[in-house]
Amino acid sequence: MSINKDKYLSLRKELGSKVVLVAVSKTKSLEVILELYDQGQRDFGENYVQELLEKARVLPNDIKWHFIGHLQSNKVKQIIPFVQLIQSVDSLKLLEEINKQAGKVQRKPELLLQIHIAEEETKFGLDEGELEEIISRRSQFGNVIIRGLMGMATFTDNLETIQREFKYLRSVFEKYFTSSDGLLSMGMSSDYDLAVKEGSTMVRIGSLIFGERN
Ligand SMILES: *Cc1c(COP(=O)(O)O)cnc(C)c1O
Repeated sequence: MSINKDKYLSLRKELGSKVVLVAVSKTKSLEVILELYDQGQRDFGENYVQELLEKARVLPNDIKWHFIGHLQSNKVKQIIPFVQLIQSVDSLKLLEEINKQAGKVQRKPELLLQIHIAEEETKFGLDEGELEEIISRRSQFGNVIIRGLMGMATFTDNLETIQREFKYLRSVFEKYFTSSDGLLSMGMSSDYDLAVKEGSTMVRIGSLIFGERN
């Protein structure tokens, strides 16, 4: 297995400097990750704590690891020293735990709040009421930096549905964050172009670069 280098380079060109490309490397081997690293990629995304830790311990330490999967509170402590951005903060309880654990270490972790925008019940995320509550209590979370929002659209061929969901996420983002330093993480292999049109500043792309996962 190796990376699709042409696709990767054209993606980078297409996204330019305004949109951060996070290469989603879950299930991918150290070798293919290094292959992409050698092309200059530094932002990588992982979904599982154990897998991220195993990779982070042996791969170059200028890699910026993004955690994008559902995070259990009891694993927060392990992951904090290794992760650049936790994109999937999907409950107040999890935020409280991250804030607590971050208080014990020197560095302030950066976070995104994951918003539920899809039709599927199975996807994680906060609703707008929960988001409002967190924002209103923002001053209590002084050990972390809440940088913006993340969301995953419905898995569908219906472009209108996806576009509506991204538009909604963008509008929520604009209520609480500024475009100058806020991060809006939306868009994956199948829908990143739509996401960018709707104002995404960070896309999370796996299969387009690495090929389909098993
Ligand atoms: C796996 C995953 C991705 C990447 O998906 P692709 O379709 O392979 O690009 C992006 N975001 C999240 C949250 C994921 O779990």
